[in-house]
Amino acid sequence: MSTYNQLVNNLETLKLNKMMDILPSLIKQINDNKLSIVDTLLTLTDAEIKFRDDRARKINITLSSFPYVKTIKDFDFSYQPQINKAQIEDLCSLRFLNTKTNVVFIGSPGVGKTHLATSIGIEAASQRLSTYFINFSNLMMKIKKAVAEKREGAIIKHYLKYSLLIIDEIGYLPSDKETSYVFFQLIAARYEKRSTIITTNQPFSKWGEVFGDSVIASAIIDRLVHHCEIIKISGTSYRIKGKKVFEEDNI
Ligand code: ADP
Ligand code: MG
Repeated sequence: MSTYNQLVNNLETLKLNKMMDILPSLIKQINDNKLSIVDTLLTLTDAEIKFRDDRARKINITLSSFPYVKTIKDFDFSYQPQINKAQIEDLCSLRFLNTKTNVVFIGSPGVGKTHLATSIGIEAASQRLSTYFINFSNLMMKIKKAVAEKREGAIIKHYLKYSLLIIDEIGYLPSDKETSYVFFQLIAARYEKRSTIITTNQPFSKWGEVFGDSVIASAIIDRLVHHCEIIKISGTSYRIKGKKVFEEDNI
């Protein structure tokens, strides 16, 4: 076997696939006296490191279970002029994670709450921070099941571990008191330890109905808002952008 083939085999055995890919083009540049040995090794190792970082970033984004992959660049701020772009950019810088600050997006359907929460989450996942996106109804179903199986402690521990937890759409499904109490325990456990992003279509005044108990709702709100950026979005739905449903159909 030629030494070149041995080298390719070694790279394969060491799973240095990216290095293997770019090796032929680098050998050509060495032969043309365009690259020194140090430059060559640096280029090879840089390419492998970048490839691995990108792959890990993509895997982390997938594991975070976002509903879609959209970033702040895809967000049309001119459509929602009351949103403070600088505030959203600051949240995307993830500075709020250092202070364990929470974020609550409140507004009617279609105004971009999930999109903005996802954009911030994707930044966190890209930085390889443990991030998880979950729909509120789905989370409450999981909590209810855990309560039935006497695994409350385990489920709280599970959702406590994420550096950033995004709970989307609080408010569509009213929940029972027992499930709400475990949800409170989760929020209380994350309080001042890890950041949580919430999106909701219900003002805090309605959370008593959502959680089936006004005392539990107040306790949840208390822990959430102590260190929190509350972003109210009151514009019209992006889903009906360009559609004249309101004026013409008189809905
Ligand atoms: P909700 O406030 O109900 O969570 P979403 O964030 O899911 O709304 O937005 C609904 C759809 O409209 C999504 O596909 C989202 O990407 C898009 N969208 C909402 N607002 C904007 C905006 N200002 N610029 C670009 N896309 C937007
Ligand atoms: Mg939403």
